[in-house]
Amino acid sequence: MADAFDAIVIGSGFGGAIMARRLAEQGMRVLVLERGRRWEPADYPRKPGDAWIFSDSRPARHHGWLDMRFFRGMTVAQAAGVGGGSLCYSSVAVEAHPDVFQRGWPSEITHSELKPYYDTVAREMDLQVVPDGQLTRRFEIARDAARNLGHADRFSKAPLAVSFSPDWSYDLEDPFDHKHSRPFVNAHGQRQGTCIHLGNCDLGCDVRAKNGLDVNYIPRAEQRGAVVRPLHVARSIEPVGGEYRVVFDRIEDGRLVPGVERATRVVVAAGSLGSTELLLRCRDQYRTLPRLSRTLGSRWSANANFISMAVYSRETEVRQSTGPTISAMLDFADGAIRNQRFVVEDDGFPNLLLNAVKEYLDGHVRTPVGRHLLTELEEYLRDDTPLRDLLLWLGAGQDAGDGRLVLKRRLLRPWTRTLGLDWTLDRSAAVIEAIEAMQQQLTEASGGRSRALPTWRLLKSLITLHPLGGCPIGTSADDGVVDHLGQVFGYPNLFVADGAILPTPTVRNPSHTIAALAERMAAHVR
Ligand SMILES: Cc1cc2nc3c(=O)[nH]c(=O)nc-3n(C[C@H](O)[C@H](O)[C@H](O)COP(=O)(O)OP(=O)(O)OC[C@H]3O[C@@H](n4cnc5c(N)ncnc54)[C@H](O)[C@@H]3O)c2cc1C
Ligand code: SF4
Repeated sequence: MADAFDAIVIGSGFGGAIMARRLAEQGMRVLVLERGRRWEPADYPRKPGDAWIFSDSRPARHHGWLDMRFFRGMTVAQAAGVGGGSLCYSSVAVEAHPDVFQRGWPSEITHSELKPYYDTVAREMDLQVVPDGQLTRRFEIARDAARNLGHADRFSKAPLAVSFSPDWSYDLEDPFDHKHSRPFVNAHGQRQGTCIHLGNCDLGCDVRAKNGLDVNYIPRAEQRGAVVRPLHVARSIEPVGGEYRVVFDRIEDGRLVPGVERATRVVVAAGSLGSTELLLRCRDQYRTLPRLSRTLGSRWSANANFISMAVYSRETEVRQSTGPTISAMLDFADGAIRNQRFVVEDDGFPNLLLNAVKEYLDGHVRTPVGRHLLTELEEYLRDDTPLRDLLLWLGAGQDAGDGRLVLKRRLLRPWTRTLGLDWTLDRSAAVIEAIEAMQQQLTEASGGRSRALPTWRLLKSLITLHPLGGCPIGTSADDGVVDHLGQVFGYPNLFVADGAILPTPTVRNPSHTIAALAERMAAHVR
């Protein structure tokens, strides 16, 4: 039997990559199991038929870019690949408002306690803002709308994990030609190029301008000996003789090949849905971790994500799919409006991504409402109505965080179980309404027409990019799954280190807080 590792990390997103690097730097032998592939720019999905979709139920066949989960009233989008959500995220890296930590968090974690860790992540991921000479039309529209509404003081550039060159501008002869991307080697020894505003941030940056985990924390971990195994889906964890056995499936030539590894420590960092599902299966299905807290699955939050559209005249020239996908932020995280805490950001949408969504829905939607949704989408996909006149607003905020992830028996195959989400809008309606109203005001203040997403208009169903919770931090197994250092109650040396442990929403975009918590946790693991 092969030697045990000192630590196995499951998942390579914000929590996983940071833990892997820091534990490897302590001299531990670290193994990272990541269900997705290792992406290179040449492989990014670009056209119908490419690897767009990661299917949780059929990973051997579909192990692509995005994992979309459809629950009643809620759709969750998440990434799959070495680098996790940093591959597909819009690179916004913001600290949570200090007030966030005042309710629902253990006394050990405050904004000032986290601040040094936020700063470390900011340095390692080289956060920048869009230079003045490169402001997108979306940025200008959002800024003017904020000014017109008297909210100029709440408007700012969003800190981005993107590398910019001061020399680039929209006035260059062919600004999007790759020759304008300046090659450089970053502080972690990785080759990158500077941003040329291609607008594909959510689909993989062709010139490697995004400072994602794949060009900083992960190569650092590997430089210190961590072994990263892509296309490995972790299935269960079992304590055996003072160690943990991790059982996984390796995706190989369209089939799943079972395998097992052992380690003294296990860090579960498979994201809010992934970590919670893995632990639920270990407690209730395989019964390998029966003492896991009864709170497992609870305090799930969508971070009150709310997306709506603003439609403008041709003359406005929104050019929505060019430039960093998000570049600005309007901040009401202090609760000044309707006593609700939220932010609104300008959001682009790569035209290519709509193709992916349509391709997915084409294969999965059979209900009349679903067909209607497809027809609506097609309207935006037709060649004569390109998305250049449309801007998306992305809102995030403090919802009730009262969702619950559960294992449900499948109707047609009751001997198998699937991840379900019990979620209702009721206690989160006020913040969603406040965000929707603000987005409508911003649209009107910039001369646009507001349009709800068909999923909201027809079904009152939301889409979140910020799933959080499921394995909340608590003070004991009575009120949480892990302690303030991510250690699972009742299981020494078993940790959860990702968005699943957040006991409340972050209001602003969550990745920077998830990353700071992982840095703090790693500093305490021995
Ligand atoms: C389109 C989009 C845009 C976004 N933009 C922003 C933004 O601008 N700013 C921001 O702060 N946040 C953004 N987010 C959210 C952000 O990506 C997440 O909050 C963040 O990635 C969560 O980090 P994590 O460590 O919890 O999990 P993840 O980063 O999701 O990492 C989990 C990893 O675990 C892997 N995994 C899951 N299950 C298993 C298993 N069983 N075995 C092995 N591996 C497994 C997954 O493939 C994944 O790589 C965006 C998300 C999306 C979808
Ligand atoms: S705008 Fe384009 S070049 Fe810039 S970071 Fe996003 S994908 Fe890369």
